[in-house]
Amino acid sequence: MAMTTPRTQPAFGAPPAAPEADALDRGFLRDLAFGSVRLTPEQALDLFKHAPLHTLGRVADARCRRIHGDQIRTYIIDRNINYTNVCTAKCTFCAFRRDGTEHDAYTLEPSAIHDKIAELVAIGGTQILMQGGMNPELPLDWYLDLLAGIKERFPGVHVHAFSPPEFIEFVDFFAPPGDDPASKIRWVMTRLRAAGLDSLPGGGGEIFSEPVRRKIGLGKCDADAWLTCMQVAHELGMFTSATMMFGHIEGFADRVHHMALVRERQDLALQRGPEGYGHYKAFISWPFQRENTPLGRVPDWGVREGELESMPEFPGDVVANLTGDGDPKAHKEFGRRVRRSGATDYLRTQAISRLMLDNIYSIGASWVTMGPHVGQVALSYGANDMGSVMMEENVVSSAGTTYCLNEPVLCRLIRDAGFVPAQRDNVYDLLRLHDGPASPDLQVTDWSEHRVQRLHVQTEAEAETQVELTTSAS
Ligand code: SF4
Repeated sequence: MAMTTPRTQPAFGAPPAAPEADALDRGFLRDLAFGSVRLTPEQALDLFKHAPLHTLGRVADARCRRIHGDQIRTYIIDRNINYTNVCTAKCTFCAFRRDGTEHDAYTLEPSAIHDKIAELVAIGGTQILMQGGMNPELPLDWYLDLLAGIKERFPGVHVHAFSPPEFIEFVDFFAPPGDDPASKIRWVMTRLRAAGLDSLPGGGGEIFSEPVRRKIGLGKCDADAWLTCMQVAHELGMFTSATMMFGHIEGFADRVHHMALVRERQDLALQRGPEGYGHYKAFISWPFQRENTPLGRVPDWGVREGELESMPEFPGDVVANLTGDGDPKAHKEFGRRVRRSGATDYLRTQAISRLMLDNIYSIGASWVTMGPHVGQVALSYGANDMGSVMMEENVVSSAGTTYCLNEPVLCRLIRDAGFVPAQRDNVYDLLRLHDGPASPDLQVTDWSEHRVQRLHVQTEAEAETQVELTTSAS
């Protein structure tokens, strides 16, 4: 068994802001790289609009190197397990959800989940990322039994599960006691934690600003509920991550507002901690994947002939503001045009997230959506972590993403980018440093056997293992 090597993680404080500084000033950018000044939302928006991409990359990379050093970049071996696709919400960007009555609705039997974890453990995996739709037919005991069963059979596997929207629906489904949303969430979360839940993923963050959220996340919790859920998790001593899905109807100011809210809540968590108190460990952002989704049928902005002349500003930018409460009536095409995000917009957004989120340890590269080679470049745009070896994924793959990497390929991508790959655990301590000939990538003699593969997606045969509860849902 590999040894855990704890890494020294900086005690993040909030550096002073210099709101009068020009965001593009070289001295200011140098201070940002050193972490001695805090980027204001206005300055972040300036960077979005005006900073050359390479400049952003250089500064974000310098910032990343000061936190994580010049040598090691990490990955984790975990497995996505999407335990059910039955969901009460109808997010317009989602191709995964089903009503309980649809022929391909499923909920996995606990034994099927155990089988998946056994496969993970067999390849040296340490964590499951377990998320699902919000299935009203599953009682609290189903979750408690599932977690207890996992911990009994796989005590060493870290259970990273149930994003805030799921918790908000748990409160609705289970009707726990409590006077306010936080105390109800705490009631449910305490029980799941005692049964085996270790930490919370940041799914369902999308974009926090209300006008955008109301358009794309039908039936899903609002930003305040999402952030409250994470605060409760931190109070219970759990680490969490935060995410952002962009490149749809939102404006750049919405992205900045989203990051600013995460930073503000992280400041509070760190002030209360670190003893016995959790916080956000990581931030991961990725562009919207459009295949098979209702939102994906919304036309791209500016592709129609003459449209850029008649609509020179992206509608989302006209509506968005830094307080997240822009007026959706400010542009009649708001929500009817998508600004599709390519590699440069992705790298720009990730680099700004590294600079804006000066109190978050890890910025993850999103190769799953962007492809392995953009993910590799992302390691020079502020990311320190390549995420996970991907055995299975069903949510973004339903929307068209098909990349799948094994450990040797992931290690090679990191090494070819100029770093030493290292397997990490959930809190970013090192499990195996691959600096010698026994490294997974340095053992490979025939790379033709290690091409990027399609993701494993839940099959209809697997779906037949669904539990009675779901098939009877109506
Ligand atoms: S994104 Fe999640 S919450 Fe929204 S419809 Fe899909 S499964 Fe449900």
